[in-house]
Formats: sequence, structure tokens, C-alpha cells
Amino acid sequence: MPDVHAVIVGAGFAGLYMLHRLRRLGLSARVFEAGNGVGGTWYWNRYPGARCDVESMDYSYSFSDELQQEWKWSERYASQPEILSYINHVADRFDLHRDIQLSTRVTSATFDEAGRTWTITTDRGDRVAARFCIMATGCLSTAQVPKLPGRETFGGTTYHTGRWPHRGVDFTGQRVGVIGTGSSAIQSIPIIAAQAAHLFVFQRTPNFSVPARNAPLDPEFERQVKAAYADFRRQARESRVGFVVERSEASALAVTPDERRREYEKRWSRGGLGFTATYVDLLTNQEANDTAAEFCREKIRAAVRDPTVAALLAPKDYPVGTKRMCVDTGYYETFNRDNVTLVDIRRSPIEAITPAGLRTREAAYALDSIVFATGFDAMTGALLGIDIRGRGGRTLNDAWSEGPQTYLGLAVAGFPNLFAVTGPGSPSVLSNMIVSIEQHVDWIADCLEAMRARGHETIEATAAAQDAWVAHVNEIGHATLYPRANSWYMGANIPGKPRVFMPYIGGVGAYRQICDRVAAKGYDGFTLAGA
Ligand code: FAD
Ligand code: NAP
Repeated sequence: MPDVHAVIVGAGFAGLYMLHRLRRLGLSARVFEAGNGVGGTWYWNRYPGARCDVESMDYSYSFSDELQQEWKWSERYASQPEILSYINHVADRFDLHRDIQLSTRVTSATFDEAGRTWTITTDRGDRVAARFCIMATGCLSTAQVPKLPGRETFGGTTYHTGRWPHRGVDFTGQRVGVIGTGSSAIQSIPIIAAQAAHLFVFQRTPNFSVPARNAPLDPEFERQVKAAYADFRRQARESRVGFVVERSEASALAVTPDERRREYEKRWSRGGLGFTATYVDLLTNQEANDTAAEFCREKIRAAVRDPTVAALLAPKDYPVGTKRMCVDTGYYETFNRDNVTLVDIRRSPIEAITPAGLRTREAAYALDSIVFATGFDAMTGALLGIDIRGRGGRTLNDAWSEGPQTYLGLAVAGFPNLFAVTGPGSPSVLSNMIVSIEQHVDWIADCLEAMRARGHETIEATAAAQDAWVAHVNEIGHATLYPRANSWYMGANIPGKPRVFMPYIGGVGAYRQICDRVAAKGYDGFTLAGA
């Protein structure tokens, strides 16, 4: 007999809501979390400037009307401390802590075919048998530090944005190097620059970034949303990306250059992620995309005084939006400061970390601190970090040797009763993740309830359904411009990782309908078995 109905791995937004849903069904569950607190992303990523780039009124749970009415966000985009205190509030309010074991990393999960149970083990010596194993391990939770020679010889201090010290870091008077120019770097660089004696930014690939226009939350907007929150959330669920943006159905090429500029300007001054929704074909047609990319490059040239630095900051070799858009506050302007130097490590790569700093092919840089803003082994890193063994002892690593294969991003053939929340093959990272998390958790909880009602003990994706889903995910992914970029969506940031466009780009509204249809047809594409 299993010890619990389900083990949930991870206590971020996904794990917490999963626990809450299972409790409400009267099912026993135990959560293991590697961190020493709940919050996931918002527990780990404490770097200066960390905040969400989906607006706070959207980037929050919708499952409890009391919760969403009571909670008051202070800014358009909430800061990391505020999001973390929100998550802790949710854990307290719904009494979640008592089933969560912190500071415990799950090391293996093995399916026993005869007993139809998963045995989960941890680095603290736990061994738990569960009917279901639910991976709420996060898409961006496995920090990636490049294997640069000499790292251990560095005489100063190194940091990774996704493993930031809880005590905070004071860079006053220091020579600091930031490696990377993705979203984490772009948020932290302006703040580190204001503190450090000198900041060196080591850039391999420039990113496109739109201004956040963050501000205190407009009380009138908050009142309007709260008066119709149910409708606001419904629209988000039915939307493409999990929040409502003004979306044009026109082609960028069907309007005059003047009209296009007006429209881009409008979005730029509004700020935020809606920029790539300006025209319907920005992510499918290179020529259309070029118009938006050139607009962004002009903005960079206008913001940065030194034309050489501006040229270096302007992305040229991939379409705008095909690497995750960044959202910033004063990023480009930071390069006008006398104490900031941009170093092109595409032209002159980092050769080694040295006791005194780091060395590129062309020069040596003396540094007191190095900040790795080098991202994550996205989407598959946390799952493959666990020794997961399904039917016949087959490992997930083996099943995914050519890239992740899932049915709906939720389940894997050969791994019965294993679910992934926002797994590869689901919209996940292309959406407001809270909307996607709630949808997956609700689907899984409904599935477990239906299985209990019908006396089923196992559910497993069929290989045929999985193959068809993988083919569909690939087909629509390849109909876009996304595969043209060396992005973490493609696994390109991790040496040796298979090149596969991992998320599902069909949109969260359409995807929800697909998942609902699968459930309505008695879990079409899955095999269910009784006791
Ligand atoms: P996570 O929050 O990543 O939680 C997973 C947890 O699982 C982690 O705490 C981890 O420690 C734990 N875990 C993993 N493996 C194990 C193991 N083997 N054993 C035990 N525990 C384990 N998304 C948006 O939609 N909008 C945003 O504005 C946004 N901003 C972001 C900003 C940053 C800096 C980052 C890194 C991501 C951001 N994201 C954003 C994505 C963000 O990850 C999701 O929105 C969301 O927080 C994910 O929740 P989760 O519970 O699925 O995963
Ligand atoms: P990221 O987007 O993957 O950026 C990592 C950066 O490090 C890139 O510039 C990358 O360059 C560089 N890099 C990686 N390995 C390197 C190496 N070996 N040598 C030199 N440079 C290297 O990671 P991130 O900035 O942490 O963001 C990850 C995701 O988290 C985002 O895309 C977003 O989804 C989410 N996030 C959101 C926010 C927000 O605003 N709410 C903030 C932070 C993160 P290349 O591009 O050349 O690989």
C-alpha cells in the first residue's frame, strides 16, 4: 500500500496549488522542496531588481476569489520580495506548510509495476511510496553556471542570479563583472551599476528589451479589475498567452510605414510584453518581424550615446521575440554611465576565470565579484536531475535522449501515474505561467478524482498519442520564426542539449480546450487500468 496518494516535488506556485487541490479532494499528499522555504522561482531569484514582467493583477492565483480580492499589489509589476510574501501568505492562509518538507531534494522516483506505486527517495534519506508522483519542479529552476576553466581559483565572490544570497549583496566600491544579458541580467544591471565602482557587462548575444514602465499600481485600475475579476481571469484563460494584450489581426506588411511606427510607438510607451502582439505575423514572417526589430534597434541607438556601444547592444542575427523578450527599467541608458563597460565576448570569448578576475581572448579584467546571469537548464533540467525510472526500469533520461517527448506536456508514455506541471510540450514558458500552472493542476486533480470515482489505479499516455502530440508541437513550432534563434526554448544555451523547440505554441486558450476534450472523452490517448 502506498504511504500517500501523491508525492509532489517542488513548492513553488505549482506545488503549492497542487497540494491545495489534492487536499480539497481528500487525497493525502506530501511535498518535497529543495529550498529552505516555499516560493520556487521567487525564493531563489533574489538578485537586485528581480520582479515579474507579467503584470501583478495577472501574475497571481485565481483559484480563490477571497484571496484575489484581499491581496493588494503595490506596483504594476511586483518585486521579488512582494511576490515571495504573497506566496508565503497563500501557504499560511491555506494551511499548506504541514505537508511540505523543506530543504529536501528528491533524488529518485521509481515505478513499481506490480504494486503500481512510485517510490520516491530524497537526499535526506526519505523513502516514500505514492500512487502518483507529480513533478512541480519548475521550468526555470536548474541554474546554469558555464564550466569556465579556473572558476575555483577566483579570489573574489561569485553569484548566480538564480541562487542569490538571502542576506543580499552590497557591491559598493567593487569592480563587478556580470556575465550574460538575458532578463535576469537586464533587470539587475542598472541597479548593480548604480552601486559598483565599475561594472563590466560580458555580452555574448544582445537581447531585445522593451521598457517596463513600472509604477505604483493605479488604484482605479485595481478597483476595476477587482470589480470584475472573474471576467478578467476568464479572458486571460481564453487568451493566447495567459493575459489580455491588445492583439492586432493585421499584417505588419499591410499597413504604411507611418502607421506601423505609430503603432510600435504606442506599444513602446505603454511598456511590457504586448509589443510582439502589435501585428499578427511578427512571429511568423521574417519581413514583418524585421520592421519591429528595426524599430527596437532605433530605440537602442536613441538611448545609448556611444554609437559603437549602441551597435553592440542591438540584436541583429535573430528575429525579435524568438528569444524571450526582456522587460527593463533603464537598461540601455545604463551604458551611458562612466562606470559601465560593455565587453563583446562573442568576438573575444572568455577563456578563463583567474584568481584576479577573468580573461578574454583579448584582455584581462580585474574583478571583486562575478555575477553569473547565465540562466537555466530550462524545461527539462529539473526533471532530468532526478533519477526517474518508469516501466521496465527505463530512465527518463533515456526516453528523452533526443529531446523531451510528452503527451500534452503532462505525461510521458512508459511512466504511468507520473505528471509534470507545465512540462515540455505545454504552453508553460510562452505564457503567464500562473494561468498555465492552474490549468495543469486543475486538470491533474480532476483526473485523479475521475480515476478514484471509476476505480482506476493507473493512467498512462499511449505511445501513439504521445507521438502525435510531439509531431503537432513540432509542426506548429516550426511554422514560426522561433527555431531561428539560439534560445533556451530550443535548448541552445546548454552545450550538448538536443535542439528541440520545447514549449507548445498553440496558445493557452486553444491548449486548454484540447486538454478538456481529452478528459471529456474519458482521457483519450491514455490507458487507464483498474485495481
Ligand atoms: P518553480 O517556481 O521553479 O518551483 C519549482 C520548485 O521545485 C523549486 O523551488 C525547486 O527548488 C523545486 N525542485 C526542483 N527539483 C527538485 C527536486 N529534485 N527536489 C525537491 N525540490 C525540487 N513567469 C511568468 O509567467 N511571468 C513572470 O513575470 C516571470 N518572471 C520570472 C522571473 C524570473 C527571475 C524567473 C527565473 C522566472 C520567471 N517566470 C515568470 C517563470 C517562473 O518560473 C514561473 O512563473 C513560476 O514561478 C514557476 O512556478 P513553478 O512552481 O512551476 O516552478
Ligand atoms: P537567459 O535568458 O538564458 O540569459 C542567460 C544569459 O547568459 C544570455 O545572455 C546568455 O547568452 C548568457 N550565457 C549563458 N551561458 C553563457 C556562457 N557560457 N558564456 C557567456 N554567456 C553565457 O537567463 P535569464 O536571464 O536568467 O532568464 C531566463 C528566463 O527567466 C527568462 O527568459 C524569463 O523567462 C525568466 N525571467 C523573467 C524575468 C522577468 O523579467 N520577469 C527576469 C528574469 C528571468 P546567449 O544568449 O548567447 O546564450
